[in-house]
Amino acid sequence: MSDQPHVKLFIPGPIEVSEKTYRAMCAPMIGHRGGEFKKLYAGIQPRLQTLFGTSRPVFLSTSSAWGVMEGAIRNLTAKKVLNCMCGAFSDKWFDVAKRCGKDAEALQVEWGCSIEPDMIRAKLATGAFDSLTLIHNETSCGVRNPLPEIAAVLREFPEVMFIVDSVSSFSTQPVPMDELGIDVLLTGSQKALALPPGLALFAVSERAQQRAAAQPGRGYYFDFVEFAKNQEQDMTPSTPAIPLIYALASKLDDIFTEGVEARHARHAALNAQVHEWVRARGFEFFAPEGRRSISLTCVKNNRGLDIAAWIKRLREKHRFAIDGGYGKLKGHTFRISNMGDETPDTIATLLAALDDTLEG
Ligand SMILES: *Cc1c(COP(=O)(O)O)cnc(C)c1O
Repeated sequence: MSDQPHVKLFIPGPIEVSEKTYRAMCAPMIGHRGGEFKKLYAGIQPRLQTLFGTSRPVFLSTSSAWGVMEGAIRNLTAKKVLNCMCGAFSDKWFDVAKRCGKDAEALQVEWGCSIEPDMIRAKLATGAFDSLTLIHNETSCGVRNPLPEIAAVLREFPEVMFIVDSVSSFSTQPVPMDELGIDVLLTGSQKALALPPGLALFAVSERAQQRAAAQPGRGYYFDFVEFAKNQEQDMTPSTPAIPLIYALASKLDDIFTEGVEARHARHAALNAQVHEWVRARGFEFFAPEGRRSISLTCVKNNRGLDIAAWIKRLREKHRFAIDGGYGKLKGHTFRISNMGDETPDTIATLLAALDDTLEG
């Protein structure tokens, strides 16, 4: 550990990692083709499946989420992909699809706005698409897209693979994969799961698995067929980040001790606590009512503050970090995460520190 006093992260990823999680990572190394690993891997499957809302296996990729986001395109887009874009991450998925040499089309709304079911229906009705990417919770803008309503539209177009990024919403609210008819549901370790970065988790529907098997150019590292084949023996295709899997197992213990529903309720309550502060201080939300994330809050800088200076004061005096706006939103917004292990007390402490440093 460094000599610098720790700055606690309230940025929307990576987020604060608990001592318990770090300790779990220090367990002795094991071979990834041996019985101990298989036991570890198989042991976490049922709880992962519960969190994913699926009867399908949950694959572990040693990569950040982007690996699987790119992989989903390479495995499933044969004809053309529709990329739903409402912020930095979802916009980039379009770019990634093109870099993979795929035919791709942008369904772009302004940052801060949401993707709505009718927009998708109009596009898919052209019959041009065989896959669609959606970010459930666009972390850069604090926008939460209406997933169940969008999923209902996708069911009208059974030839279109529904690829959903739940990186910053996973485990903070239900995202029932099978019930919604999601074909690929993916998340990453360092956001809502409060683990260090380096692991992506995903599940693939049966029909998507079949599409992948028939698809050329899948490559190796993110080949869904490789994942499925190794899964049958409780293994990953290549050597995984075993310490992160220890951390994941420990975190699953935490999640199921708290209770999944209680965890969802806690995130909703913490988010409401931040929202109350936002309103009371005369700030506005960047996302519209009904479309706001519940794992983070993106706040408009309608008070014209020097956000960078404020964040610096907060960091120096209280050792807390919040985010000063993503990309082109820098200085125009700030973001506060309520993901992970936070409690009403820790959020109250942060909000008091924000008040304390608001005026220069
Ligand atoms: C952070 C994030 C990503 C990218 O995650 P990496 O771990 O950097 O690959 C993708 N989607 C969303 C919604 C995110 O918040």
